[in-house]
Amino acid sequence: MRKDPLSWIEAELEQLDQAGLRRRRRVRQGPQGAVVVLDGRELVNFGSNDYLGLASDERVKAAAVAAVQEGWGAGASPLVSGYSVLHQRLESRLAEFEGRESAVVFGSGFAANMGTIAALVGPGDAVYMDAKNHASLWDGARLSRADVRVYGHGEYRQLERLLERGGQYRRRLIVTDGLFSMDGDLAPLGELVELAHRYEAMLLVDEAHATGVFGAGGRGTAEHLGVEKEIPVQIGTLSKALGSVGGFVVGSRILIDWLVQRARSYLFSTAPPAPMAAAAMAALEIVQTEPIRRRRLLESADYVRAELRRQGWRLGPSMSQIIPVLVGRPETALEFSAALAERGLFVPPIRPPAVPEGESCLRISLCASHSSGMIDALLEALAVLAKRFLS
Ligand SMILES: *Cc1c(COP(=O)(O)O)cnc(C)c1O
Repeated sequence: MRKDPLSWIEAELEQLDQAGLRRRRRVRQGPQGAVVVLDGRELVNFGSNDYLGLASDERVKAAAVAAVQEGWGAGASPLVSGYSVLHQRLESRLAEFEGRESAVVFGSGFAANMGTIAALVGPGDAVYMDAKNHASLWDGARLSRADVRVYGHGEYRQLERLLERGGQYRRRLIVTDGLFSMDGDLAPLGELVELAHRYEAMLLVDEAHATGVFGAGGRGTAEHLGVEKEIPVQIGTLSKALGSVGGFVVGSRILIDWLVQRARSYLFSTAPPAPMAAAAMAALEIVQTEPIRRRRLLESADYVRAELRRQGWRLGPSMSQIIPVLVGRPETALEFSAALAERGLFVPPIRPPAVPEGESCLRISLCASHSSGMIDALLEALAVLAKRFLS
């Protein structure tokens, strides 16, 4: 008998099981929202990126439904015949919203990051990466075949030393999350802007978790930190606070023209269905007309962090709606997540490789649609766990 060439996978999966690292998918029935049904169980949902509660908003749904009447699949790459009036209009709205010359919409934020980085640098160039950057930024950096230089999370002084020593490169690109997806803290954008100027490097900021949430206008961490005009390459996603799907890049007209020529995840991928653009425009409108949502969200995040720190939990440097409750071992994260589910609360356990070894956590994502009763229930349940875990 010939050996199954895929039999090695069984052994690998077994190892994941042993280490408490095997993932399984929960099936959601019904819409995304503050309360969800997962695997048949109704739970208050602290495990989505639907930060403003727009994924199931009636206006967003209605916009998508109306657009579906005009057709569904895009049928081709945007460069062939897949680019519709709705895609074009969404790009204009995004550019206008962000106060930039131009925008381009990709099928996902992941695709936007991969395609953009690989279009900006190549062999003979360097990419400077924060150690905690998102997986899609790493994949883009590796794909580019530029030299990847890593600096410690937020350690801009270390970045400066790397830049100082890297004068031989043709082009250089500094890449960072604006709001880090696991730690919930912000990049030191003021310092990064200053370094990018001084060393004549390009700067790319991924605002995936901050678009719609941070800044008075909801434009992200660069707005919040007052450096918007200094970020030449800004990336966002339509799939988190905007409750839709798709990624986008905003910047100068020449930048966007270049990405349309060279970003392979754009060129060689079918345009997303046009109704996604209609839904995203409706969501964008809500972001602009209802700033109360992001204010309420960040206020409840301040409250939850203060209470959890008072209970004795380690939250790391979080200063946002993303609140990792650090427990260390993956098995502990699993056990606590199960204990919270017993009380009707969904808080996902986060384990390596999503976080470094020893930094397993419960990742609380707050949404504007959580009621104060829901938040109090979470705090009470964590207070009970704190007595067990921290004593
Ligand atoms: C989620 C995420 C992405 C990917 O965006 P999608 O639209 O979900 O593909 C990119 N960057 C960061 C920092 C993210 O958290």
